[in-house]
Amino acid sequence: MLKKIKMIKFRMRYKIAIAFVFFDFYYVIMLHMSIPFFYLQKPKDSERVNAEDKSKLDELEQKEEEKVVGEIKPGINLLGYCTHETCLSAKEKFYVWVNIGFGDISLTSDNTLYHCPECLHLSVTSIARVKFFNSEYFIYINNNPVQIKKNDCEGTYLIKPGLTYSLKAERIRQRATSIGDLIIRSEAAMNSEEVLNLVAELQKYMITVAKPPKVKDMKRLLEKIKSDYGGNFNRVFDVGRFTILCDNCVKLQTALNVIKKANKFNLIVSEDKDFFNNHSMTHYRIHNIRLYVPKYDVYVEMQATLKHYSLLEPYSVIENSKLSHLFYRLMRNWIPRDVAEEDLNQAGWDTLTKINDVAFEWMHMIAIKKLSSRYKPHREIGILRPQQLSQKTEEEIAQNKSLQMAHFVYVQLCTFIPKKKKGKAIYFILYNYYKQYIIGDKNPASCADFALLLQESRQQEMEKDIAISQARETYIPLQANNYAHMDGDNNEKEITYDCHQHVIEFLKEKKDEKQEEKIEQQQLYKRKVMIIQGKSGSGKSIFCRHLEETLWNNYKSDSKQPIPFTFHF
Ligand SMILES: [Zn+2]
Repeated sequence: MLKKIKMIKFRMRYKIAIAFVFFDFYYVIMLHMSIPFFYLQKPKDSERVNAEDKSKLDELEQKEEEKVVGEIKPGINLLGYCTHETCLSAKEKFYVWVNIGFGDISLTSDNTLYHCPECLHLSVTSIARVKFFNSEYFIYINNNPVQIKKNDCEGTYLIKPGLTYSLKAERIRQRATSIGDLIIRSEAAMNSEEVLNLVAELQKYMITVAKPPKVKDMKRLLEKIKSDYGGNFNRVFDVGRFTILCDNCVKLQTALNVIKKANKFNLIVSEDKDFFNNHSMTHYRIHNIRLYVPKYDVYVEMQATLKHYSLLEPYSVIENSKLSHLFYRLMRNWIPRDVAEEDLNQAGWDTLTKINDVAFEWMHMIAIKKLSSRYKPHREIGILRPQQLSQKTEEEIAQNKSLQMAHFVYVQLCTFIPKKKKGKAIYFILYNYYKQYIIGDKNPASCADFALLLQESRQQEMEKDIAISQARETYIPLQANNYAHMDGDNNEKEITYDCHQHVIEFLKEKKDEKQEEKIEQQQLYKRKVMIIQGKSGSGKSIFCRHLEETLWNNYKSDSKQPIPFTFHF
């Protein structure tokens, strides 16, 4: 009996609990129906959502993290389910993000099908959410007179069944009337209380904020607008730009968190591009954040990175930090005119990304070390000037991209003297581009290459000339004197000396003497020619071969020594 009563009590309690849950659910439904604006609330910040509903949304967030496929990309992103029977995400009941990109669409939750990123079939439906990313966006519910227009970088909204939504996402753009107007607005925004407050907040965390003293100069700005944006100045965002430099990754994260809360300073984070963890086209390693300053209706840019990745003077610790940017400036508006130039251009882009891979450590330090070990300085190998530049005027070079690039890389290789590993690795990458694509693989790019070619051809010649090879084995040092050879006269009475030693002394640069004397001495030598005379069969050819070998050996041990040439008539 007691047991029975207990059972009834339990059942009653259960029923009451069910009734409460049902009541709460009903209440939520009612709330939704009575306030259409709720549909446009962002799930995360909504203040109207009651606690019950918030817990439901949190649950949805967790599910997203655990069971969501597809990637959030700029523009419109829709969250739904794939219904195709062969699709893995459909089988596992995963949510799917479908990116529509920029544009204008109309949708009703169940009455639409989108391409699944997993199985590629037109089978994603039951759209539950829309997420706008890095765009200016607009939502309009057809059945209700509700609309929203915003430009924050990430906005998520619920999509309810039965309603028809118009969604539109556009790339963010400036709304200036002229370049001058853009500069005035950008300068005002950079010096505005809102932006200065944000900068002060960052500086509280001991984060370096580098602000350029002035917005970009007009000439460079016009050049950039013309080449990068087809003349459309409203696509330029870095007229006003701050660079944020952090000592380590933790500080960088702090900086990003501070910037992302910029709304408390009446600023809107409108675009957030993570090129720190993902490759950009050029492999520059930065977080690129665009902030909208409502007071001046303009966007400014904040670039955040680690201090030791910075290319900005005077903060940069990377040697020849301007190289990467100068190289990029040559590349960016280069339209190849023929196949050969296309190769040079493509290899140029590859070289730029490799240089940045080293500078920003996309490449592992072990690989950087390996590259740096292959570096040889210009003073040692002697970079040769590209043949295509010979007899070209400055104007001719300026009008031809291939020649400009050849000249730029040549000057860099002759003047850049790296001391650290990254610098040496970058030099080696640049030299490889020069050797393979500017000079051409078959031609010598340096004196060292040229010497190697000479040595190879000498080796081949020696192998062919068996008589000389054999005679060299029985070489006897030649004696000589300073008098001209006369037929029938052996000059036996004259004082002789070792001919080989004499020639070596003749060629030797007297290093220990004073500079002035040395120059004098060199000039003296330059004017001098030594002629060795001797009767037929006295051993002149073998002597020359022997001398040649000695000089080559000297060159191999010290590349500053002269290279011997042998001409045969
Ligand atoms: Zn699918």
